[in-house]
Amino acid sequence: MDELPCELALACIRVRRFSYIDYCSPYYSSAFLAAAYSGEIHPVGHPPEWLVPEDIASIVVLPPVSRRLPERPKKNRIPSFGEAVSQSRCTTCHRNGYNSHSCTYSKSSRLLTSTIGVGKGSGSHNV
Ligand SMILES: [Zn+2]
Repeated sequence: MDELPCELALACIRVRRFSYIDYCSPYYSSAFLAAAYSGEIHPVGHPPEWLVPEDIASIVVLPPVSRRLPERPKKNRIPSFGEAVSQSRCTTCHRNGYNSHSCTYSKSSRLLTSTIGVGKGSGSHNV
């Protein structure tokens, strides 16, 4: 809030037994609020009903001439015509289209092997 006394000023005003209203801006009074909405608004109506002078109506307004700003360079090169695009391949399940980092198969199989206990060091050497 602007042009209102802070809490320290209000405490001083109270100690001195002054009126708070004398230290506030008159813009916060109800008289100023009523004056702000006392004016009239004249609607402009439909555009075909407007009375526009001919010299104003003949002006063609164009969009501003703007230069396109440079963008971040592309990370991947656009392949040439007929060039084979290499797909990413998962090293865990050997499926195309994604890598092992985003593989859902490897997560479920890892969870399965950890619960069963199958893997390295399972004790199969003692035969
Ligand atoms: Zn995978």
